[in-house]
Amino acid sequence: MTRAPRIVVLAGGVGGSRFVLGVRGALRARGLDDTASALTVVVNTGDDLWLSGVRLQPDVDSITYALAGVNDTERGWGRQGDTERVNHELQEWGAGWPWFTLGDLDLGTHLARTGWLREGLTPTQVLERMSHRWPLGARLLPMTDTEVDTIVVLHDGSRLHFQEWWTRHRATLAPAAFENPGVAASTPAPGVVEAIADADVVLLAPSNPVVSIGPILAVPGMRVALRDSAARVVGVSPVIGGKVVRGMADVCLIAIGVETSAAAVAGLYGARADGGLLDAWLIAEEDEHLASEVAGRGIPALVRPLWMTDAARSTALAEAALAAADV
Ligand code: GDP
Ligand code: CA
Repeated sequence: MTRAPRIVVLAGGVGGSRFVLGVRGALRARGLDDTASALTVVVNTGDDLWLSGVRLQPDVDSITYALAGVNDTERGWGRQGDTERVNHELQEWGAGWPWFTLGDLDLGTHLARTGWLREGLTPTQVLERMSHRWPLGARLLPMTDTEVDTIVVLHDGSRLHFQEWWTRHRATLAPAAFENPGVAASTPAPGVVEAIADADVVLLAPSNPVVSIGPILAVPGMRVALRDSAARVVGVSPVIGGKVVRGMADVCLIAIGVETSAAAVAGLYGARADGGLLDAWLIAEEDEHLASEVAGRGIPALVRPLWMTDAARSTALAEAALAAADV
């Protein structure tokens, strides 16, 4: 391909940002300087929330900070070298959630974002503005400009916000269902459908299928855009050897009746040929024995190293995903 490829990645936070770094790395390794014109990331905003008067966008910020190189790689979220003075003061006031830490630098981001939202900018416009501070090398789009929540419904019928379930209860309360109030009336953010229509390849990052990729696909118009696009759709399994790599995505999968296996997640997304999404699915070497099961679902399976333990491995994985689409 002589011109730069057009790539769209659908992504959540931590797994998503590692993968997006890999895609940017793969483009740079091909000698492309202006990676932002080739790489569009559609980011999950389903777990965004209001807290202490500010708008939090956990996945948007994870990806922004990671691409900027200012993320806390040890803790896995927030800003490197952050402090918690304001958070301490909020807790003295009894404001916010005592089990939810807002770093000082991170709060700067939330304040800037909230101010611009209050001035009337859309989330897409705010993210565009926020993308100028650092050379991110990617265009970031929220999945939608509409406010969407992720609510966890427990077996006794009680409901709590995803962030409370995840951070406070560490996903230990068995979920009966996940709901996304607001999503049915939402539309894809400006530019999302166009980016998918113009893409050579759409990559599903190895993000949480239920609470990261799920809400993106639940935005009306998103699946149709993927189905109608000439782009090849290639997914990367977040499950390796029957386990999720980090976090608690297995609990989410159980709630929607999907086994924690690379083949079952492929089945959840479905074969493009059968009205699903996938033209190809990357599974780990540990899951080679599942390749025939994936193929049996009508989805070509490719066995590749899926661990994103450093930048070189993330880049190699992204390169493998692009190659799977002949890009
Ligand atoms: P969140 O929004 O911060 O929860 O992050 P994501 O939804 O983007 O990513 C979480 C998922 O990333 C988890 O389900 C993990 O299984 C997956 N993940 C994390 N690290 C890796 C990795 O090195 N390789 C693969 N294949 N998946 C990973
Ligand atoms: Ca998330």
